[in-house]
Amino acid sequence: MKNMLDGIEEVLLMGPGPSCVPPQVYEAIGKKTLGHLDPYFLKIMDELKEHLRTLLNTKNNLTVPISGTGSAGMEACFVNLIEPGDKVLILINGVFGVRMREVASRLGAEVDALEFIWGTPVVVDDVAKKLKEKTYRIVAVVHAETSTGVCNPVEEIGALLKGSDTIYLVDTVTSLGGIEVRMDDWGIDALYSGTQKCLSCPPGLAPLSFSDKAMARLGARKTRVPNWYLDISLIANYWSQNRVYHHTAPVNMVYALYQALLLILEEGPVQVFKRHRDTHRMLVKGLEGMGLKMVVDKTRRLPMLNTAWCPEGIDELAARRCLRSEYKIEIGGGLGPLAGKIWRIGLMGHTARKENVERFLDALRKVIS
Ligand SMILES: *Cc1c(COP(=O)(O)O)cnc(C)c1O
Repeated sequence: MKNMLDGIEEVLLMGPGPSCVPPQVYEAIGKKTLGHLDPYFLKIMDELKEHLRTLLNTKNNLTVPISGTGSAGMEACFVNLIEPGDKVLILINGVFGVRMREVASRLGAEVDALEFIWGTPVVVDDVAKKLKEKTYRIVAVVHAETSTGVCNPVEEIGALLKGSDTIYLVDTVTSLGGIEVRMDDWGIDALYSGTQKCLSCPPGLAPLSFSDKAMARLGARKTRVPNWYLDISLIANYWSQNRVYHHTAPVNMVYALYQALLLILEEGPVQVFKRHRDTHRMLVKGLEGMGLKMVVDKTRRLPMLNTAWCPEGIDELAARRCLRSEYKIEIGGGLGPLAGKIWRIGLMGHTARKENVERFLDALRKVIS
């Protein structure tokens, strides 16, 4: 029979995710599948949790990968922390803030949103004002807005909430592994991420961590968590020393995440973040040299997700198609109000290498000339 998989080409993934996967991670996925309660696999799980804590800069006991992509991490946070009628504030300046509002609303929360122009950051003073008007059970924000390339002031917003009863929930899907995330120092109570952005794994797992405050909130629920699969108490029972079966862990994806974390810790997070910043600077210099304008103000740009306005007279979609077909490079287009107007160029994890920036700039120059 014909095998479709034989037709898979090597594509340089420079979009908003998934990112390029290093060979060691592919090898990890190909290792022998163990039972999900096998004693050796349990040891791998324990070490993986420890590595995740290191990268997140947290001591949180509950630090585990959720089975599912980044959005499953988002859903797991909200579904466990919200009860119907809870007051929730979502800070929105892109697609993933909008998604948070959608998820929270479906759970019967009373959702307020503070919205900011896409391509600009959340304004801390506006958040402070809102918090004086009303007390919230949860305040949620996206650290790295992948739809626009903006880095939000997560630390400063956390400072506003310190000492309060409010749960601080942060999306670190695109930030983790590309820029520093200091969960405990920044006062973050609940956080989720994803494997296919700067962790450079295929998509499939969503690292998640809950502080003691978030765990206490979970314990004080008056209603049951309305979603069985994502019920953190049940998942924690499997990932803790109790080892109670809940659902079969995606064993080989756990290997992949383990290996990906190991690679980051071996290179050293400081060096990994520097590699992201260095390649980002090189890319911006190249784009501006070609006359392109960046979307986001210099002070709030994400190194791993670069947005540039598509030059006038260039067909945005046609250029991307040409990059993919002629040069085997994938980049992303704009979303929402930015659709058709911008390019999103990812330098996530393993993708963030000088030779990739050079290859891309070379190709783009030919495509738009
Ligand atoms: C990609 C992304 C998500 C969603 O992750 P999926 O893996 O696509 O479910 C959520 N938040 C941000 C900031 C993202 O970049």
